[in-house]
Amino acid sequence: MRIVTFAFVLLFAGCTPGVVASDGFPTADAPFTLTALDVGQGDAILLETPKARVLVDGGADATASRHLAARRIRRLDLVIATHGDLDHVGGLPDVLGDVEVGELWLHPSPVGKAAVDRLVGAARTAGVPIRGPLAGAVLRVGDLTLEVLAPWPALLEGAGEDASNDASIVVRASAGGAAVLLGGDSGAAVHARLLSAAAERLRAEVLVLPHHGSSTSDLRLIAAVAPTVAVVSAGWDNPYGHPHREVVAELARLGIPLRRTDEEGTVTVRLPTRLPAAAGVGG
Ligand SMILES: [Zn+2]
Repeated sequence: MRIVTFAFVLLFAGCTPGVVASDGFPTADAPFTLTALDVGQGDAILLETPKARVLVDGGADATASRHLAARRIRRLDLVIATHGDLDHVGGLPDVLGDVEVGELWLHPSPVGKAAVDRLVGAARTAGVPIRGPLAGAVLRVGDLTLEVLAPWPALLEGAGEDASNDASIVVRASAGGAAVLLGGDSGAAVHARLLSAAAERLRAEVLVLPHHGSSTSDLRLIAAVAPTVAVVSAGWDNPYGHPHREVVAELARLGIPLRRTDEEGTVTVRLPTRLPAAAGVGG
């Protein structure tokens, strides 16, 4: 699929009722949207362009699936399971059972094995192919370009909870000249290497804070990404204190607004790209 890139105006508009057309696709004036579904403590991030719909993680339970049903979304081109923690993959078997899915990205890991096994089983039942892309892969889904920034093979060999988080799929998704960066639950060791090896490829208009805004992140990541807005998915009054105050303070220092599912519920961010308007209606 040819990617058409136009100059775009760097404007940010927040959650606006009516931004999504009745068929669930973004309207022509908001062709690239990110929706952080309110799934409590966990991640379920929906990316939509005129020709692509991608769900990154699915929360802990069937809440994400209910959100998709309420939006009458019946197909996802791609589902990415960033890593095996329950708050990211627990709800994905429901999604694969309820919605047609083109492909699943997943790196099996010993941590969260039961939830991952359930997800793999659901993918097999639904006939969804599984792929485990590594850093360096660039894949296109419709008009969306997905650059995989992590993990690299050594990260998949680690053991324990921190290693599981650091094995997260980190992806930069772009369309029409705008990008979002999603880091799963990756932590400072991963971010430090990305900053030294790939800092110029981190820039994005929207940063979904890794690990629900935890201080396990390398705070320098925020300035390197230089987003127009940051988004955090975390449960209200969650026991981990996410997002952590150091991260919130760094965003404030840099003048970057933070959209929070724990305070707002589902958060929608529109990226005003200039994708072809004619492609604005799809099924
Ligand atoms: Zn998590």
